[in-house]
This record gives sequence, C-alpha cells and structure tokens, in this order.
Amino acid sequence: MTTESAESTEDPDHFRHWRNGLFLRPDGGNADALVELIRRALAEALSHQGAGPVYPRRGHADERSPVGEGHLPEGPVAPETALGQLRWWLAGAVKVHHPLFAKNIVPPPSFVNLAALCAVSLFMPNGVTGEDAGDTLSAELSCARAMARLAGYDPDRAGGLFTFGGTATNLYAINVGISKAQPDHAERGIEPGISVVGSWPAHYSHKSACAWLGIGTQNYVAAASLPDQTTDLDSMEAACRDVLARGHRLACIMGAGGTTSNMAVDDFTEIAAMRDRLTAEYRLDYTPHVHADTVIGWAYLCFLDYDLRRNSLGFSPPVVAKIARLVERLRTVRHADSFGTDFHKTGFAPYTSSMIVMRDGRDFSRLRRDGGLMTPLFHDKDAYNPGVFTLETSRSAANMVATWVGMRALGKQGMRRLLGHALETAEALRRHIDAQVAPDVTAINRHSYGPDVFLRCYPPDDPAASDEDFGDTSSVRRMNRYTSDLFTWLSRHHAPDAEQFAVSKTSAAFYTPTGEPVVALRVYSLNPYFSDSHAEELIVRLLKGKRRFDAMYPDAPDSNMNEEAR
Ligand SMILES: *Cc1c(COP(=O)(O)O)cnc(C)c1O
Repeated sequence: MTTESAESTEDPDHFRHWRNGLFLRPDGGNADALVELIRRALAEALSHQGAGPVYPRRGHADERSPVGEGHLPEGPVAPETALGQLRWWLAGAVKVHHPLFAKNIVPPPSFVNLAALCAVSLFMPNGVTGEDAGDTLSAELSCARAMARLAGYDPDRAGGLFTFGGTATNLYAINVGISKAQPDHAERGIEPGISVVGSWPAHYSHKSACAWLGIGTQNYVAAASLPDQTTDLDSMEAACRDVLARGHRLACIMGAGGTTSNMAVDDFTEIAAMRDRLTAEYRLDYTPHVHADTVIGWAYLCFLDYDLRRNSLGFSPPVVAKIARLVERLRTVRHADSFGTDFHKTGFAPYTSSMIVMRDGRDFSRLRRDGGLMTPLFHDKDAYNPGVFTLETSRSAANMVATWVGMRALGKQGMRRLLGHALETAEALRRHIDAQVAPDVTAINRHSYGPDVFLRCYPPDDPAASDEDFGDTSSVRRMNRYTSDLFTWLSRHHAPDAEQFAVSKTSAAFYTPTGEPVVALRVYSLNPYFSDSHAEELIVRLLKGKRRFDAMYPDAPDSNMNEEAR
C-alpha cells in the first residue's frame, strides 16, 4: 500500500478488507491470515539467514535498507512489505539455532512456548489482576508452586511472581531485604549505610539493584571468591560483620546459585547458618534476607531427584560426576529465603521470562503499595491480586501461560536431557581442545559446574602456555591482553561462512589469589543440535583463526586500537 491507499481507507469496504488482514475477527474465523503472515515472516527471515552463526549483512546491496530511517510513514505499509524487511533488521544478529553459535547463555526457544505465546497474546490478558486475566494467572500460581517444589520449599507456603529478567528477581530480593531490615523504608526512604553483601563474581545486576533502590553501589560489599567462583564464606562473614559492627543494617546476603561464569553454587545451609549466628550475636531486631541468585542454576534443580546410579539417560561418567557435585550444592538452595529463575536462559523460553520465588509467600506482602497487611493469596486464584505488590503494572499473562505450558511440554526428563546434552558436548569440546590445540589454547576451568568451557589463549611459543603461573600478575595481565586482542580480532575479522563460529569472552573466568581477573574465551552451547563433531569443527576453526591472528600479532590493527579502551 502507498500513501494514496491510506486515504482510500475512507472507503468502508477498503477499511473492512484492511482490518480483516490485521486483526482477529470476533469469531476468530480469519486466524489463517495470521498463520499466513507467520509463514511469510519465517520464510523471509530464514531464506536470508546465510550459512554462518550470525545473520548476514551482505547480499542485498541493490535494495535500500530501512534500518535507521526513523520515519513513521503517512500511509500504512502492506503487511507483506513490512515483513519483507525482516532480513534488514536481523542483519548482524546472532542465530541461536546455528550449531557453531556458542555465545553467552542463550537457549533456542521451544516451539510450544512460541505457539502458546502467540495464541494467548491474541486475547491480551494482563497479569496485573485476576479480573482481566482469569485463569491465565493460574499459570503463574502453578509455575511458582512447581519452582518451589523443585527447590524443596513447601509449595503451600511459597509464592512466586513472573518479572522482567533475572535483574528484576535480584531487585525484588533486595527490596524484600530492605523491607525486613527497615520496614518503613517505603515511606521514609532508606537509612544511610544499609547494605547488601554479595561476591566478586556475582552478576552486575546486584550492584545495579543497589543503585536503583537507593542503597548505593558503595554499600554493596563483594566478598572474595574461590578459584571455582564459589563465594569464600569466611570473607562473606567478615563482610557481614563489618556492616553490622558499624551499626548499619544488613538488608540482604546474596549467594551464588550458579555464577554467570562457571555455574558455581554456594552452600546455602552454611550461609543461612552464618546469618542466624550473626542475627543472634548482634541482637538484630530483624533477620537479614538470604537470596540465591539461581537465575541460571535453577534449571539443574530438575536433577535433584534424578537417580544418578541408575542413570536412565545414560550420561557419561564425567557428566554424572559434574551433576553429582551440582546437585549436592543445589539441595541447599531450600535454605535461602528466595531464589530467581530465568526461563529465557536455561528454560528454553524466548525473552523475557523470569520468576522470583519466596520461600514464604507472605514476604511479598512487605512490598504492598497500598500499605495493606493482608497476605498475598497465592493459593486462592479468585482472590489473587498480584498487581498490589508487583513492581510492574502491566505484565504479559500470555508469557506466564507460554512459559508454564512450555516447561510442561519439556517435563523434568526433557530438561535433564537438554541440560545433559549441553554438559556432554562441553566434555567433547574439552577433549578436542586437549587433542588439537593444547598448549596454545587451554580449557582453564577444569572444575566447572556447568557446560562453560573457558579457553585461555597463548601466543605461539610463550612459556606461560605450558603451565601458566596465576600468581604472576604481570604475566596474567599479558595473557589477558593477548586473549582479549584475539577475541576482538576474531569478532571483527570477516571470515567466510565456512570459517565462522561465535563464542564470547569472559572478563573474569575466575579471580587469581591476588584478585586479578583472568580473561578467557567462553564457549557455551545450549543448542540441542550441537554435537561432538560440531565441537571438533569449532576447535578447528578457532585454531585457524588464531594462526592468522598470530601471523600479525602484535602488529594486528585491533590490538593497537584496543590500547585506549584498556
Ligand atoms: C544473566 C544473569 C542475571 C541477569 O538476568 P537477566 O535475565 O539478564 O536480567 C543475574 N544473575 C546471573 C547470575 C545471571 O547470569
């Protein structure tokens, strides 16, 4: 349609025709038009997706890109034309389904989730109240009970809310912590010095939450971590004592429930016991909140009741050993007062789908914006009114249904299968590294808890390669620089499709005893299509890229460019 056709929408027939192509008829009879548009959108997106792990930018130089124009057209653009532009918008984006895409923690979303999201969204239920959402909100209640059960909470006491990302789950936990430490904070504002204790490898969203909540990032105290990224609990206790000895309130203790790097999980039995000890010793009139940041780790709770001895899914001995270590730690999450889940990370859901789960659902009533004392009714769906204590007003109930239906479609066994597959292929990757690129490239996280493989890269013939001394700060920094430069070069250098692969970089695979971050390439795949032979291919391509880079280093243009950023 052009500008003229916009004017001709004055014609009632034309309006009707236009409307029927865009909106569901009251009897739902034109849903095929939607299906047809989905078909077109998919055809457009997929037919230009190229062969590499990143959506191509090249190949349509004859057409004008709509990207960056920023004008709302006067007249409507025909649906086919609008959808025909998807290739431009996708240019440069990751392709999570590509077998050599192994970046960050990104799962392919399940078809069941996407189908439910689409169907339920047509009805526009809003999770703010039961009045408009009806039983779609029951998906939130069911999912919360299921998550509570997975962790070992009492599902009749617990409560859970969907929210916007793991970031928001941490925000909720800290806010509940503030409400415990200083109950009148919502009216008076928070007292200076109120603190949160976390750890070095914790996700930066902990600090952001402190900034947004008015605690201040200086009052976020990070405890030291051990080389496997778990929290040094002595250091954590010292940090808590320091806060309390100064007479400040301790709102929340944030333990690791699967660090972003290495999936390290703390022992929450010990953290909760430490909290109880300090509460008694300092005669606190409140109990500091203990939160487990499990936004990645929660998915592995599905293994808590998997019989590792029978091992019906046939996992290999190293994977069984890894799961056993994980399970031992994850069993302690039930001693935390709350934990978070990111379904869009390890739950095979599209963005954005997360949940904050409280062991005691009544803790949410501390957040009531009406100051009411009534407890949230997590068990009576007719009286359930989450909008009174959620941060958000509008919340997509379609996402709640899609996430829950999607999780049910996988089941615990499906989750174990998918996560187990990721762990198996990570082991395959390690084998190929040892066989083909050692000692130029080494997997430095021997004691990982999850599928993370961290690759430390060394210049050719560098003495650090055979046995890096992580106590030697200047050498660590030199290798950090080399690995960073290699990563930058690999990301910017345009390799042909057949040589491409997509991995990320971690700025701290772990911290050395002197607190020096250790940079590494990070390979992480949740793709069920990723296989042993893809793992091998990825290593072959990495080695090829590295050889090219080494031929130029240290004169590679990017390595100089990076100098300022450092
Ligand atoms: C990703 C992550 C977060 C942030 O979650 P978002 O869903 O990206 O907001 C918080 N904590 C940990 C440990 C994470 O890995």
